[in-house]
Amino acid sequence: MLQFLSLMLLDDESKGYDNACVSGAMTPFADCTFCGGPVEERRVDYDYRRKGRLLIMKNVLAGVCRQCGEKYFKPDVLKRMDQRYHDIVDRNQKPEAVVEIPAVSF
Ligand SMILES: [Zn+2]
Repeated sequence: MLQFLSLMLLDDESKGYDNACVSGAMTPFADCTFCGGPVEERRVDYDYRRKGRLLIMKNVLAGVCRQCGEKYFKPDVLKRMDQRYHDIVDRNQKPEAVVEIPAVSF
């Protein structure tokens, strides 16, 4: 069975963040709670799923475990992703792009 899901893509509008500070700075994240590995700060694309909707958040600041890849987000980043979700879903703002992806059931 093949079904298609539409999903929306939007950019994290974190203006004013100084990227140059990220690479050399000490990580603000604690070690990974799953494997104990070191967590480094990176920009990632994140699949934000909520109530059957999927929004791809591009360029989100996250802590990523170097051993297992688990992602961690600061509270203000989570809050902004939630705001963007409501902007798109409840307030009908246009996302930067809408893409179609194939999905299959096993
Ligand atoms: Zn880990």
